[in-house]
Amino acid sequence: MADFREGTMGVGIAGAGGRMGRMLIQAVLGTPGLTLSVGSVRPGSNLAGRDLGLLAGLEPSSSFADSDPAALFSRSDVVIDFTNPSSTRTHLDLAQRHGVGLVIGTTGLSDGDQAAVNAAGRSIAIVQAANMSLGVVLLQSLVQQVTATLGPDWDVEIVEMHHRHKVDAPSGTALALGRAAAAGRDVALADVRQSVRDGHTGPRPPGQIGFATLRGGDVVGEHTVIVAGVGERLELTHRATDRGIFARGAVRAAAWLKDRPPGLYGMTDVLGLA
Ligand code: NAD
Repeated sequence: MADFREGTMGVGIAGAGGRMGRMLIQAVLGTPGLTLSVGSVRPGSNLAGRDLGLLAGLEPSSSFADSDPAALFSRSDVVIDFTNPSSTRTHLDLAQRHGVGLVIGTTGLSDGDQAAVNAAGRSIAIVQAANMSLGVVLLQSLVQQVTATLGPDWDVEIVEMHHRHKVDAPSGTALALGRAAAAGRDVALADVRQSVRDGHTGPRPPGQIGFATLRGGDVVGEHTVIVAGVGERLELTHRATDRGIFARGAVRAAAWLKDRPPGLYGMTDVLGLA
């Protein structure tokens, strides 16, 4: 583990130049007991060498952006990764090599990527969550409770909207809500998932969990789980209006990881709700 500045915990940020990366810089700098070690940027990025405080619109911080991912891991106790799936794979390898804890917020991971995360959880401590906000963590357990109570003759549909830059669909959060709905019914989401409908689809099969994806503008993240029965329906909605909620959750997870034994943890563990 890095001995970056005595008495503090060194937190590194992968993808420091991104939308979430800049929010994470602000959140780490604003958290007592944490030191911002290094922020990584893509190789060749013109942000390399920039002061991270200035990058996030704050005062100079004396921590800098580096395009060498090895620098990120050799100088941090925990690294927070909000990048993309292929970079997350690289970061998983480096975290294991350096014995560094990892907070993974990146979404859109393939089954192979997820298997690599699961395997890494046997040697290092990882917190992974498709949505680091307290509201969504609570929504997941509410959804599971609702579908367990109402049974399969109530239809579950999940609608999500995000900004125009988002590259994966349905969102990682929508899929996590789908897994919670499926868990309430004791089925696997993969067996009942319907992500796209187009053309002559025929009637809705019972037990299906449907997804609808909207993209546009600067929407931070909205999710509604609709549970529709005959003559009535429930709609459970979460609206994120500020990316800071995800950044603060991720930084809380990073602080929680300190000295934690190897394992793959979720936000329910971090928040003590497990
Ligand atoms: P973004 O495109 O603004 O930022 C990603 C950044 O990572 C970019 O600046 C890119 O240059 C950088 N990057 C990519 N590969 C890199 C590498 N190898 N080394 C260093 N930097 C690298 O995207 P964003 O909106 O910040 O979202 C990032 C990810 O986080 C997405 O997968 C998104 O879905 C996810 N996300 C998760 C949560 C959550 O709560 N878990 C919340 C918001 C976004």
